[in-house]
Amino acid sequence: MPYLVKDKMQFLVKAAKILSSSIDYHVTLASVANLLVSNVAELCVIDIIENGKMKRVVVKTADPYKQKIANEFYKYLPDQRNKRAVYDAARIGGPIIIRKVTKKWLKTVSRIPEEIELHHKLKLKSIVFTPLISRGNVIGVLTIASTEGGRSYSERDADFFVSLATRAGLAVDNARLYTEAQEAIRMRDEFLSIASHELRTPLTSILLAQQSLSKYIRKNKRSSKDDKKAIKSVEIGTLQIKKLSSLINDLLNVSVISAGKFTIEKENTDLVAVVKDVILGLEVLLFKNKTYIKLIKENSEVSGMFDRVRIEEVLTNLITNAIKYGNEKPITVVIGVRKKSAIIKISDQGIGMNIERQKNIFDLFSRAVTAKNYKGMGIGLYVSKQITEAHGGRLTVESVEGKGSTFTVELPLEK
Ligand code: ADP
Repeated sequence: MPYLVKDKMQFLVKAAKILSSSIDYHVTLASVANLLVSNVAELCVIDIIENGKMKRVVVKTADPYKQKIANEFYKYLPDQRNKRAVYDAARIGGPIIIRKVTKKWLKTVSRIPEEIELHHKLKLKSIVFTPLISRGNVIGVLTIASTEGGRSYSERDADFFVSLATRAGLAVDNARLYTEAQEAIRMRDEFLSIASHELRTPLTSILLAQQSLSKYIRKNKRSSKDDKKAIKSVEIGTLQIKKLSSLINDLLNVSVISAGKFTIEKENTDLVAVVKDVILGLEVLLFKNKTYIKLIKENSEVSGMFDRVRIEEVLTNLITNAIKYGNEKPITVVIGVRKKSAIIKISDQGIGMNIERQKNIFDLFSRAVTAKNYKGMGIGLYVSKQITEAHGGRLTVESVEGKGSTFTVELPLEK
């Protein structure tokens, strides 16, 4: 014969532990139902409101032989017209106690003979419908029933079920919010990925057109005032397009990394050539910031298997930062080999960072400067670190506030 737990507090503590053990509320509720049927009930049914409708998520019997019969309850969903049952408990926001299941009551809760028959087959004796409430909203109903020979539930039992339902309601709500948040993140990443792909295509052709225009102007070496103005406009345009491309690339990388779909395509690459290309591409930006780069090549060639495009992104990010935060002072780039790794060091003599700030600059959207003085999204270093680590390498920083920073890229040289 089912009995109500002797130590309610202990039972509730156990239930709370189960409720916090999973973020999938289907799993959580199934565990709660198991706990109930092994302690206080012969049958436990849980309905959750989804998009305004009751959805039956759990039907569980204490007697495993009766589970198959009880599973029929999945077919007969609660009906809004039914009195003193699931919907009424939700409407009232409090428990409804059916001390004894009678023919009269059964007639008010079902118009389907097979459903009524199901109550008889399971020999249901007493039922309590308890709303699951979270943040003031009813989010479902917990139905607990005893069978013939079992307990007739009382107000006190109902109070106990309310305590349990309050905890369960909160757990369901949290799990739901978590699922919704995950879904929102997934949609954001998908949007980011599509948007950056779409933006990249026209930008690439604008950049190509811009570059051929620039070549054409230079080749014809015109020197009138208007020609100089035109050259300047084209250069500004090219610089801005490159900036935009680099930002879009970073955005695309963030979406791919968040979605866990980040991959690298390695090819035989000479890092000295990559460094030179990147510096060349930043010529205009360097000029605009009245600075220059001193390139120290400890080896004339540093070749290995790398994703060339992505390493270019890393170096572009780091050198652009050195220019941006470098107080218009010369920048040094050193490339060489230490042990079995390629080492690229980018040093500036700019604003630097204190230890506290250095701790999280590699986190997503982390910025240690004011948006007013320095523009940026705070994703370049995050993406660069991910790319370096995907190569089995490391990206580290040494910095002194007011003196400058050195970022070191370390990439293993595979044979
Ligand atoms: P963004 O430059 O767009 O803000 P990053 O991810 O490239 O994003 O850099 C994150 C933060 O790290 C920057 O906002 C800045 O505070 C700091 N930072 C990066 N590079 C340097 C540098 N060379 N000198 C000083 N601070 C830097």
